[in-house]
Amino acid sequence: MLERVPLLEKDLAEYAEIVGTDTIDRLHALAEPVRGRRVLHVNATAYGGGVAELLATHVPLLRSLGVEADWQVIHGSDEFFAITKSVHNALQGAEVPWTAEMQRVYLEKALDNALLLEGSWDVVVVHDPQPAALRTFVGEGPAPDGDTRWVWRCHIDLTDADPHVWEFFRPHVERYDASVWTMPAFVPASLAMERVVIAPPCIDPLSVKNLELPAPFVREICKQYGLDPARPIVCQVSRYDPWKDPIGVIEAYRIARAEVPEAQLLLAGSMATDDPEGFQVWEQVTEARGGDRDIHLLSNIQQVGNVQINAFQRAAAVVVQKSLREGFGLTVSEALWKGRPVIGGRAGGIVLQVRDGENGYLVDDVEACAARMVELLRAPDRADEMGARGREHVRANFLCTRELEDWLRLLGELLSG
Ligand code: UDP
Repeated sequence: MLERVPLLEKDLAEYAEIVGTDTIDRLHALAEPVRGRRVLHVNATAYGGGVAELLATHVPLLRSLGVEADWQVIHGSDEFFAITKSVHNALQGAEVPWTAEMQRVYLEKALDNALLLEGSWDVVVVHDPQPAALRTFVGEGPAPDGDTRWVWRCHIDLTDADPHVWEFFRPHVERYDASVWTMPAFVPASLAMERVVIAPPCIDPLSVKNLELPAPFVREICKQYGLDPARPIVCQVSRYDPWKDPIGVIEAYRIARAEVPEAQLLLAGSMATDDPEGFQVWEQVTEARGGDRDIHLLSNIQQVGNVQINAFQRAAAVVVQKSLREGFGLTVSEALWKGRPVIGGRAGGIVLQVRDGENGYLVDDVEACAARMVELLRAPDRADEMGARGREHVRANFLCTRELEDWLRLLGELLSG
């Protein structure tokens, strides 16, 4: 079978304090037609990156509502994940080769994984391109495909997708009963599918990454990782990926530091198991750092986990997410929820979260990013006010209860139709 991801226990009732009891009651009512039904989520990795983060909350919350939900990950290989990373890049607009051999390796793995899919499911939700072709081959494996409804959840921005790569994926995607997207602009015009749903991702305010932390604890964590808690911190939390533009963040920080010399920069980024590019980018970023003692590079290799990320986001005077392309950018809502203003690249789902001039700033280049860093570092009270507005924006739009509502609606429709 595919690999099952161990799940945490989550109790929806505990969210009432944050989102109100009306929301919880509404969720129970929406869950009625889905209760007892079997829903499987499949993606490529149990750790690292936004999708794993989302599923770690979403699946336990479905279970807390009585849905028999599960989460499994596909098997890959270094070669397969190198190919799917190329696919990811091509779908985000990069020029990459897409050879017959790459297509063959991709499809062979999709078939292998389809043969490993077991059990009978009412709904299978497949995330992103890595497992997208699974649906094509199911029926050839042990899982009966009779009444199963299939949903493809695309987390990436396909606005500038390489047409060859998208045309390869389109027929596989069109076999699904529905697809779910972060923003309308991401849905390719060529997609022939009746049920297309927009449901942006969200954060879990009760996850270890987002729970309240006492200020002395936050300071202690910063100290342990070599940061000076008495000096302002500029922080970006992201996988080491060129689209997250870590080198652009270093360049912007260096310009800003000329005016705010006490500022320190922290780049914290995990290496996901499905992302072979990470180590390469880590080396490029290390070179760009050039031994600068005020630029701190950390990753999960130094045991930077959820608690540390939580502390760093809280400790930051300013959080940056200078992505050049972005599906959603969970890190933005994570920081806003912690009351920090965010300087975000004007890309993908960041524009849903950062309201320019209200809870942060949208920027288009290194210079603008540096100027906004200086502005916010020099006006900490204003930064706090912007952060407070950010928290309310997230409460209204980007908490996991909202996303749960969107999914329960879709599941209810699929199961009744
Ligand atoms: N993340 C983490 N540790 C790191 C870097 C990132 O836990 O060192 C988390 C981050 O907090 C966020 C997720 O990984 O929850 C990244 O999601 P996002 O949507 O920002 O980007 P993606 O990686 O999916 O492109």
